[in-house]
Amino acid sequence: MNVPLVDLKVQYQQLEPRISARLAAVMQSGQFILGPEVREFETAFASYCGCEHCVGVASGTDALTLALKACGIGPGDEVITVANTFVATVLAISFAGAKPVLVDAEPRRLTMDIERVRAAVTGKTKAVIPVHLFGQPVDMDPLLALAGERNLQIIEDACQAHGARYKGKRVGGFGHAACFSFYPGKNLGAYGDGGAVTTDDRELAEKLRMLRNYGSPKKYHHSFLGFNSRLDSMQAAILNVKLPFLDAWNSQRREAAHRYRTLLENFDVVLPAEDESCEDVYHLFVVRSERRDALLNHLERNGIGAGVHYPVPIHLLDAYRDLGLPAGTFPVTEKSARTMISLPLYPELTETHQKYIARTIGDFFSKDKP
Ligand SMILES: *Cc1c(COP(=O)(O)O)cnc(C)c1O
Repeated sequence: MNVPLVDLKVQYQQLEPRISARLAAVMQSGQFILGPEVREFETAFASYCGCEHCVGVASGTDALTLALKACGIGPGDEVITVANTFVATVLAISFAGAKPVLVDAEPRRLTMDIERVRAAVTGKTKAVIPVHLFGQPVDMDPLLALAGERNLQIIEDACQAHGARYKGKRVGGFGHAACFSFYPGKNLGAYGDGGAVTTDDRELAEKLRMLRNYGSPKKYHHSFLGFNSRLDSMQAAILNVKLPFLDAWNSQRREAAHRYRTLLENFDVVLPAEDESCEDVYHLFVVRSERRDALLNHLERNGIGAGVHYPVPIHLLDAYRDLGLPAGTFPVTEKSARTMISLPLYPELTETHQKYIARTIGDFFSKDKP
């Protein structure tokens, strides 16, 4: 049996007639840049997230970069985020001209450790980017309290957490702005790159609309240096087809995660920790094993597309060598980089697939019992 880490084809087959019709309509209309599909998606996604505004941009990385810039963050400022994230979170801080300040993750859920954030705040800190990694919301209450005390802006990286809830409220509405990616494999994915920023701040939304469109409030009038970073209309059309299914897909992900918990409970792997204040959306199902590399090999040999998110922590990447943070700086992040393994997870993953995966993992551990 072959089980890929993510399978985007099954879902496309289900949606094919709707997607084809909608894309054809965009092409017939000739409205390729911004226009009604983008507006419709922005309105629908803002409402889905429980926010006033949504601004569609070209990618999650751009969402983060533009959000930082729109919040007035730039050279001389420090922005705190977590070492256990995808590199784009940190690239955005660098692209905005600010200094990334990294903190370690907490050991239970591997998301941002708020006590470490508190310790990292300096007079130059302007913002914090909590990352709702793997679809697990960060513990927002203590972070928001800290932000209030120290006058920090909060910009959520919700690129892996569309629809996740913290204390009953969806991510995307906790800070000054929140950033989403619609990269194809994300919980809500386009058929190419795409991203969005959500916010309740009308002025910030206006600024973002200009920033994504050459800094222009009106054609050929340019108030400041902007970008060409709009959500593509064809991608918006696809997202308009897919958004109504997001909650059902997230439930399917949760059901699959629940099945994994039952199937794997007797094996020597650490299952992802749940938190009663959170409704996770399982962008990834990440287990931990001291024998990760051997297990990964064993799964690959048996046709199972497991992955590692992420094998090299940010501070140990060549691109971030100039942060001057040697190995040993963030023990939780570094240990998880050696032990994490992401098992296949997508809404259409079947119980048969999962039983095969569990059996394969069981074989691995029983074979080398002494
Ligand atoms: C995917 C992702 C991004 C970047 O999004 P792109 O659309 O690929 O630019 C940023 N942060 C996190 C946590 C992500 O998973």
